[in-house]
Amino acid sequence: MNYKISKRAASLTPSITLAIDSKAKQMKADGIDVVGFGVGEPDFDTPQHIKDAAIKAINEGFTKYTPSSGIPELRQAASDKFKRDNGLTYKPSQIIISCGGKHSCCNVIQATCEAGDEVIIPAPYWLSYPEMVTLAEAKPVILQTSDKTEFKVTPEQLRAAITPRTRLFILNSPSNPTGSLYTREEIKALGDICVEKGVLIMSDEIYEKLVYDGAEHVSVASFSPKHYEHTIIVHGLAKAYSMTGWRIGITAAPEPIAKAIDAIQSHSTSNATSFAQKGGVAALNGPQDHLKGWLAEYAKRRAYAWEKLNSIPGISCVNAKGAFYLFPNISKLGLKSMDFCAKLLEQEKVAAVPGVAFGADEYMRISYATSMENLKKGLERIEKFAKTLSK
Ligand SMILES: *Cc1c(COP(=O)(O)O)cnc(C)c1O
Repeated sequence: MNYKISKRAASLTPSITLAIDSKAKQMKADGIDVVGFGVGEPDFDTPQHIKDAAIKAINEGFTKYTPSSGIPELRQAASDKFKRDNGLTYKPSQIIISCGGKHSCCNVIQATCEAGDEVIIPAPYWLSYPEMVTLAEAKPVILQTSDKTEFKVTPEQLRAAITPRTRLFILNSPSNPTGSLYTREEIKALGDICVEKGVLIMSDEIYEKLVYDGAEHVSVASFSPKHYEHTIIVHGLAKAYSMTGWRIGITAAPEPIAKAIDAIQSHSTSNATSFAQKGGVAALNGPQDHLKGWLAEYAKRRAYAWEKLNSIPGISCVNAKGAFYLFPNISKLGLKSMDFCAKLLEQEKVAAVPGVAFGADEYMRISYATSMENLKKGLERIEKFAKTLSK
């Protein structure tokens, strides 16, 4: 049978990290001692009071359809969160609850972009952004950055990339995969240009709470009413509450965009899981003190990993200010990132994600959302591997 696949689907690139990931899983299943630095999720458990709220919801029969944009209680809790943390006023009607932050991003792009539109994406980027843009039949315009600028785009770069067809600029600070964080001034400068040029900003703020060394996260929407009008915030509970499997994403948008997303969602996924939403209410309205311990633990691991990576001949690494990733430069060791990571897995049994997956072939991504013990073991193996290459 010759199945016809739509151009839309056929144009997507299957995740190139999948090959490495499935190989690592197979090796583990075969009893091989693999150290995994690949996965992008917290290694902590979801806090108990959040689990309890969802369990209670199930037991009380809260297991049916909800409004497609989310239960009023959770939209209100998200509205309160933006007020409390960012000083931003969003009515609950401007908030859409989706099936994970990834779904929120996809909805925003579907609601705002069409064929012929251009979307500016700084690289290294979260690997789903360009594919989501392609899926909307729009064109990703990639702005390359490097470790020399801590992986941040400059206002000049952004200005030069804007054309009459530019619809959206995607900002992700703190960043996956680099962990870099824009300062208040830097964010404002980028926001100013978008306001001047009438370009919308999709600001992915999912790592908002994961910042180190007293650094601050600032939302681009917060500078002025004009910035607010040009911004769509994507958020979610996956990273700060270790709720990756719960699938709760949050979008805060100007009313017409929120309405458009509601329409899309009402005909595609409908609501995010009912009892997961109840867990979401507990997450946003409940105590936030788990974060302090998690951040202290991440900071310790980051410090160790950053120092260790920089001590390895041929590897250099800028320190991350947020999220839970480091993005070391491995180009001096002479292999393309895909080869590097494939050999690293084969020879030293360490799984890391090649930078090429994020549009930056000179690097690899290390997630330190893993135990200190794993981190030590894995980095020592990377050191051993790098020595075999630099000889
Ligand atoms: C993890 C992540 C998300 C959202 O993930 P979900 O699991 O879909 O909630 C969004 N953006 C970035 C950059 C991420 O790393």
